[in-house]
Amino acid sequence: MIYWGESLREAERVREISTSMIRKMFEIVAKAKKEGIDVVSLSIGEPDFDTDERIIDFACKAKKMGYTHYTSNLGLDELREAIADRYHVDKDEVMVTAGGSEGLINASLSFIDRGSEVIIPTPNFLSYFIYTKLCEAKTIQIRTHPEFKLDINKISESASKKTSAIFLNYPNNPTGKVETKKNLEAVLEIAEDCGAIVISDEIYDQIYYEKKPVNLVDYENVVVVNGFSKSLAMTGWRIGFVIARKDLINTMLKVHQVNGVCAPAFAQKAVAEAFACGIFDEFTSKIRNAFRERRDYIYRELKKLGFKAVKPEGAFYIFPEIPEYFENCNEFVEKLVMNGVALTPGTPFGDGNERYVRISYACSIESLKKAVERIKIFLDSQS
Ligand code: PLP
Repeated sequence: MIYWGESLREAERVREISTSMIRKMFEIVAKAKKEGIDVVSLSIGEPDFDTDERIIDFACKAKKMGYTHYTSNLGLDELREAIADRYHVDKDEVMVTAGGSEGLINASLSFIDRGSEVIIPTPNFLSYFIYTKLCEAKTIQIRTHPEFKLDINKISESASKKTSAIFLNYPNNPTGKVETKKNLEAVLEIAEDCGAIVISDEIYDQIYYEKKPVNLVDYENVVVVNGFSKSLAMTGWRIGFVIARKDLINTMLKVHQVNGVCAPAFAQKAVAEAFACGIFDEFTSKIRNAFRERRDYIYRELKKLGFKAVKPEGAFYIFPEIPEYFENCNEFVEKLVMNGVALTPGTPFGDGNERYVRISYACSIESLKKAVERIKIFLDSQS
């Protein structure tokens, strides 16, 4: 490789973005494994289920049928129609993207101006902080601890004409919380008063327990981001979608046409077939029941072990507080992994999360049981 020397610099907008936490987690787990420790990983952000066999067959057939080219930037009509039917919107209000992440960055680049302010309730999915930096905007974090409920007064006090966007994510990663319609509508009103967009990340909308999450598809100043990574266990297929007013879709198309361009054609066709054959409802109901059983188990066991935790209402994460005798979540995570369980520290999820860890229960009950036993032994050894 030819080395051009010191003159090549990172662009300012990426300079502050760090990959150190992911690297650190990787190093911590690698070190434990090198020492011969068998590690149960509860740090994964994807369903442990495989994509339904029938969807894989549809995709193979689609490839043979020639779905190997670009599709329209907006996506295959039959998939857009299926999504529109499901969410009771117009097909023109749907754009298919290369995963939910592409939808999120398209929305960010389309509506967040340089120098503007972006409100992010914390804890929240760490990508929102990165999108805000990429747009050269300022993050305003609003803490939701300890119940992880939106504080409408705090949001209202922080919002101003400088606010360009507010990120919402329910069911939430990492807390599993689902917000009330009343609170969500209050945020929409605040956004409207400021002329800001609400980016509502609803990627976990099919994974819920007692309360069905509210979809914000019917509201004017909202871009809803969603996808099939979680609901159909298709993280590797890169297929998502956004729902928004037609003029907002047209704005985002300016970015999407040069960014994702289109989601993989055969993946779009396969998901369209999955909707047509009723597989979507069948699959989501199957995983919802499995995750509910695991949620009940892990919540109950953590409580027995003395953890303070808010009961998750959706997604597949729980965000407990660590016992007070640990200095912070990094110490807890680093020590626990040497006892055979990998968790994610709370700090990447925003301000105020130094004493929290994220546990993903997207794994078998057997693995969860093993993890709980090891956590118990670990805690007993500390006291
Ligand atoms: N939004 C949230 C809240 C997520 O947790 C994730 C993935 O973990 C995504 C978006 C990204 O989804 P995709 O794989 O479809 O890009």
